[in-house]
Amino acid sequence: MDIPDTDPVLAAARAQVLHDLESTGAADPGSVSALEDAVATRRWWTDQWPEGAAYVAGLVAQDVQDALLETRGRWPLCSACDALDPHSLYVHPDLGGPDPTWVCEVSGIAVAPLGELVAPRGPEVKG
Ligand SMILES: [Zn+2]
Repeated sequence: MDIPDTDPVLAAARAQVLHDLESTGAADPGSVSALEDAVATRRWWTDQWPEGAAYVAGLVAQDVQDALLETRGRWPLCSACDALDPHSLYVHPDLGGPDPTWVCEVSGIAVAPLGELVAPRGPEVKG
């Protein structure tokens, strides 16, 4: 079997994003399917541009974020700042780069590195 060099990178990206889906309670068949689609798309992308491997985790996260926005709404929601309106975190740097980090879009707080989100704290989840 011919195993591309990008596989470890994609496996790591998949593991990071899956962790964050699970830790935020967003892992379900739909979101995992969106993750698999994103990984497949980025596998092709890194085959075309191997130097882009350092960017791939952040891009996979953004792909999943975009997919979930259409199906289940904003993900991941911020629980790190004092803003009351639900708002999402975004991946910084937003055009992809090494060491992607989840950043609050309201306060600018760097909440956690990609793959290290923890369960939201604060008020109990209703319903
Ligand atoms: Zn926030």
